[in-house]
Amino acid sequence: MKGWTGRLLRVDLSARRARAEEIPAGVLRDYLGGRGLGAHLLYASGRHRLDPLAAEAAFVVATGPLTGTRAPTASRTSCTALSPLTGTLFDANSGGFFGIRLKRAGYDALWVEGAADAPVVVVVDPDGVRFDPASDLWGMGNRAVRAALRDRYGPKAAVLTVGPAGETGSRLANVAHGERFFGRGGLGAVLGAKRVKALVVRGDGPVEVADPEGFGFVVGECRKWLAAHPITSRGLPGFGTAVLMNVVNAVGALPARNFRQSRFERAEAVSGEALREVTTGRKACPGCPIACGRRVSLDGREVQGPEFETLWSFGADLGLADLEAVIRLNLLCNDLGLDTISAGATLAAARELWEEGVLDFDPLEGGPADVAGLLEEMARAEGPGELLRHGSDHLARTLGRPGAAMTVKGMELPAYDPRGCQGQGLAYATSNRGGCHLRSYMVAPEILATPKRVDRFAWSGKAGLVIVQQNLNAAVDSLVLCRFTGFALSEGYYARLVRAATGWDLDGQELLTVGERIYTVERLANLDRGLGRDHDTLPRRLLDEPVPDGPSAGHTVRLEPMLDEYYRFRGWDEGGRPTARKLARLGLAEPEAADV
Ligand code: SF4
Repeated sequence: MKGWTGRLLRVDLSARRARAEEIPAGVLRDYLGGRGLGAHLLYASGRHRLDPLAAEAAFVVATGPLTGTRAPTASRTSCTALSPLTGTLFDANSGGFFGIRLKRAGYDALWVEGAADAPVVVVVDPDGVRFDPASDLWGMGNRAVRAALRDRYGPKAAVLTVGPAGETGSRLANVAHGERFFGRGGLGAVLGAKRVKALVVRGDGPVEVADPEGFGFVVGECRKWLAAHPITSRGLPGFGTAVLMNVVNAVGALPARNFRQSRFERAEAVSGEALREVTTGRKACPGCPIACGRRVSLDGREVQGPEFETLWSFGADLGLADLEAVIRLNLLCNDLGLDTISAGATLAAARELWEEGVLDFDPLEGGPADVAGLLEEMARAEGPGELLRHGSDHLARTLGRPGAAMTVKGMELPAYDPRGCQGQGLAYATSNRGGCHLRSYMVAPEILATPKRVDRFAWSGKAGLVIVQQNLNAAVDSLVLCRFTGFALSEGYYARLVRAATGWDLDGQELLTVGERIYTVERLANLDRGLGRDHDTLPRRLLDEPVPDGPSAGHTVRLEPMLDEYYRFRGWDEGGRPTARKLARLGLAEPEAADV
């Protein structure tokens, strides 16, 4: 089989043993890899029903059929587990060498279950698996752990690490992949609960494709499209993701001060243009021609720059119009292993609660230094950080003000106010991993006019666009390519890459069907966990409180009619359950009790 190795490595931490097993070719055809494979494995095993932090819960790292090839951005790795933050099936992906090394070690995926009795580093190489003691690393930040692991295992080892936030079980804990992150959903807490400080993989076997010449040709064409599209050739390379700040602010869709405003009067201070003034270079994930990452100068050093969402969460949402402070807070979160979107948004909710007299401290009182202190306490479960470390939903409910949490399914919303882009509101509400812009990015047609502009305030007709994006994105996440390629590439190009890599006769339509199957399996898992129509909603503020001023003034999100249309187009019933007919069309069995 070309493209895949056809093998899964199953690791049981409790028993300290591992075994390789075959992944049936039919499963790979139906779910591709990455997110799809992770969702299938968890759902088919019945483990989607467990407490996310239970020892028996599983953590899946998966590659795709293009991982390790020359396809643009084919260096990404996917992780899937149950989220301690949302209670949903949850996947995240990031760029780096882990997936490439895993495949070169001879595995498409790594399944980790059980819990170690003391901190461990799990080391995978072609000869087998080791469980190395890691008590000396426990409590260390990601930077120091990375350096220690490099000394211990050499520069060719790829590592995923967990910071202090993951060790203490913060629901905002991420997993670090070098300087990139599996950011959202608290996946770091899942590894922390298993006492895994790091996963290490070494492998240098070949990655082969079925049709090397054809593959090289399609890769060349894809690169030309990426070089031709204004977003992937100029916007992202020139400004990084922060290019969005002034654009989104200008149309009144940039949430500010915990979504109480839709414009931030000082957005310029934390914009892509401001970041460019301190930028020293670009940074790319391996094999990526876009290079959206930034290196910036701080205290005479060159450090990693923040992404747009981080500039927004600490800048506009928290109200800190101080670029240098946001750069420092970003580095701190990365070291502690905290998701920057959720951490900044939780502090923004805390500030609102303090202004209302419900919380007895102002997170911004002492400026950025106080914010940094709170982040340390959130990660280490100390002092006031205890109240904040599980996110804004937990905070707002604990204080009896659930309306202050700008969350969907428990996860903090990102940097777009859906009152200024209705389709994005539907995308948030129906995102099966909670408040996120990556399941469907309606900002593209509604604000960026790509592939073409649609009326951002209209609600009718948005459901179809959201569904197509959700299905295509599920497929791209399962190929484990970067989503930014989607600005320039269509499903036809992704299918051609898969065809040349695997030799399978797959076209763009089948790719979309695979994406729909994956989205549906994730939906079935969530329904099984009691997450249905009632959870496909938005914070009341966005439904009931019109934007006070600016270009989106007077608007709320018209969610219910969009949701009705969405369920109808999906082939789901009014409660949001896929119908038997839809399941049959996707080759899925009706839900039934599965073995755990
Ligand atoms: S576009 Fe950015 S995030 Fe995506 S693969 Fe390239 S460098 Fe990484």
